[in-house]
Amino acid sequence: MAGSNSGLNSANSANSDFLSQVQAHVQANKGRYLEELKSFIRQPSISTIDVGMGEASQMLAAFMRRLGIRTTIYPTRRHPVVFGEIGPEDGAAPAGMRTLLVYGHYDVQPPEPLEKWVTPPFEPAVRDGKLYGRGTSDNKGQLFAHLKGLESYLAVTGAESGAAGAAARLPIKIKYLFEGEEETGSPNLRPFVLEHKELLRADAAIFSDSHYHESGRPSLILGLKGLLPLELRAKELASDQHSMKATVLPSAPWRLVTLLSTIKGEDGLVKIDGFYDTVRAPLPEEMEAADRIPVNDTEILKAHGAKHLLDNRFGRRYYHNMMFEPTFNISGLVSGYTGKGTKTVLPAEASVKIDIRLVPDMRPDDIHAKVVRHLEKHGYGDVEVARAELGLIPSRTPITNPYVEVARRAAADAWGDEPVIFPSTGGAGPNYIFTDDLGVPCIVIPFAASDQANHAPNESLVLDGFEKGIVASAMVIKYMSES
Ligand SMILES: [Zn+2]
Repeated sequence: MAGSNSGLNSANSANSDFLSQVQAHVQANKGRYLEELKSFIRQPSISTIDVGMGEASQMLAAFMRRLGIRTTIYPTRRHPVVFGEIGPEDGAAPAGMRTLLVYGHYDVQPPEPLEKWVTPPFEPAVRDGKLYGRGTSDNKGQLFAHLKGLESYLAVTGAESGAAGAAARLPIKIKYLFEGEEETGSPNLRPFVLEHKELLRADAAIFSDSHYHESGRPSLILGLKGLLPLELRAKELASDQHSMKATVLPSAPWRLVTLLSTIKGEDGLVKIDGFYDTVRAPLPEEMEAADRIPVNDTEILKAHGAKHLLDNRFGRRYYHNMMFEPTFNISGLVSGYTGKGTKTVLPAEASVKIDIRLVPDMRPDDIHAKVVRHLEKHGYGDVEVARAELGLIPSRTPITNPYVEVARRAAADAWGDEPVIFPSTGGAGPNYIFTDDLGVPCIVIPFAASDQANHAPNESLVLDGFEKGIVASAMVIKYMSES
C-alpha cells in the first residue's frame, strides 16, 4: 500500500511540475502568442460572402507548418479544409499510441453593423483584458489556443518547434481538422469526413467553441441535440373570403390550431405515437453531473422575464429536461390579417413552422415519418408537411468515456477549478460527424467567456481564457498519452 501511494504521489508531483512549466512558458510567451493571433484576426475570412477565405486558409496552414505539422489544404465545393498531422505516420506509430483529432473553424460571421464596433472588426485591439475583433472567440482564437498548446508542449519537453525530432518526441499523434464553412452550416464537412475516414482515424476528438461557465469555472460539453425543422401548411380555400362565410366554409387557421392541439397538451408532452421510443435514457453518472450544475430558478425567471417554468422543469429538472428531453417547438404561426385595425376575413391558408430538437438516439427521418403518420391518423392527411433541410442527428459522448477524464483533468489543471460538466446542452450541432461517422468520443472544452458576443458587434476573447486554453490543450496531450 505504502509503495503504491508513494508511486501515486510522485506521479502527481511530476504532473504538477509539468503544469507549472507549461504555465511559466505561456506567461513568458503570451505576448508573442497574442501578436500571432492578432495577425490571424487581421485576415478577414467571411465564408458567407467569400471574403479572404483562400488567404486565411494559407495563413493557417503556414502557422501549422511552422510547428512541424504536416499540413495539406483540401479544396471542397466551396471553402477549403485545412488538415494537418504531427507525430509518426499512421503505419509507423508505436502500438498503443493514441491519436487526438482537434477540430475548429477559421471562417467568421460577417461583421455588420460596422458602426456598432468600438474598434474595427479586423483591427484587433486589447481593452480591459480582452482581445476585440471578429473571430477572436468564434473560432480563430479558440482554435489558435490548440496550436499554441502544441507549441508549449514541445517547448517544455525540450523539443524544438518545427524540427522533425520534435514531432518524434510527441507522446501522441495529433490531427487537425479546420474547416472554412461552419458559419454557413458546414455543408461540405460531412462529405469531406466520409471521404477521408482513414485519414481522420483517431481515438478522441476535441474542439473549443461556445463559452465556459458564467461563474468563471471551466466547462466540458459532451453532447448536442439534433434538429428537424418542418413546416405544416393547411389550405382550405382558393382565396381569402369575407368572414360572413365563416358559418359555412372551412377555416384554415382553425384547422391548423385544432391539429396542433392533438400534438401537445398542457403537460408539455408530445402525443405523437412513438415520439419518445428511441430516446436514450441518461446514465446515472450523467444524471449526477446534471444535478451538479449550478441552477437558480429565481434568476432564470428574472433573466427571461418569465412568470413560471413549465410543469416539472424547476430546480434540478431545469437542466435534466434541457439536456435529455426532445422539444416540439412552434417557431412561427402565420395566417390571415396581422396589420392595424380590423379586417373581417376568412383566411384561405395557414402555416406553422416547427423546430423539433432531437436527443440521442432519435433520427430526423424517423420523427418526420411519425409526424406524417400522426396527421393521417387524426384526419389531417391533406395538410402539407414541408421539410426544407435534412436536419441534424443528435450526439452524446457518455460521461463515463475515459477521454472525458483526460479533458476534465486538463481543464481542472488550467483553471485551478473543477469543470462544470454538461452531459448535453440544448444547442444543436454536427458533433455526430465525430461520434457517429468516425465513431470517436467528442468533447468540447470552451476557452471563451460567456460575454464573448460572438456573431455580434464587439466580439471578444478574454485573454485569461486564451492563456488557460493553451495550458489545457498542452495538458490534454500529456494526459492522453497516459490514458
Ligand atoms: Zn459562429
